[in-house]
Amino acid sequence: METPEVGKECCLCPVKGGALEPTDIDALWVHVTCAWFRPEFAFLDPEKMESTVGLLKIPPNSFTKIAADEDVGVPATVLASCEE
Ligand SMILES: [Zn+2]
Repeated sequence: METPEVGKECCLCPVKGGALEPTDIDALWVHVTCAWFRPEFAFLDPEKMESTVGLLKIPPNSFTKIAADEDVGVPATVLASCEE
């Protein structure tokens, strides 16, 4: 199910468009390929490569979108609590 929509952007890279999957954080999307190459990510449905989880494990400085737009809605405290 791919529904190209304006407004969806991968939060891990600046590339627009492509196959985006929702993450476990509302309003944040990632490319299937970007998620695939991040060891922090897992797919709830690996066969279909859908429903990525693990976004909170990624260091905040990896987020291109967060760096550019602080309105994404990921509370800094949540991100900090995931750091060891
Ligand atoms: Zn991407």
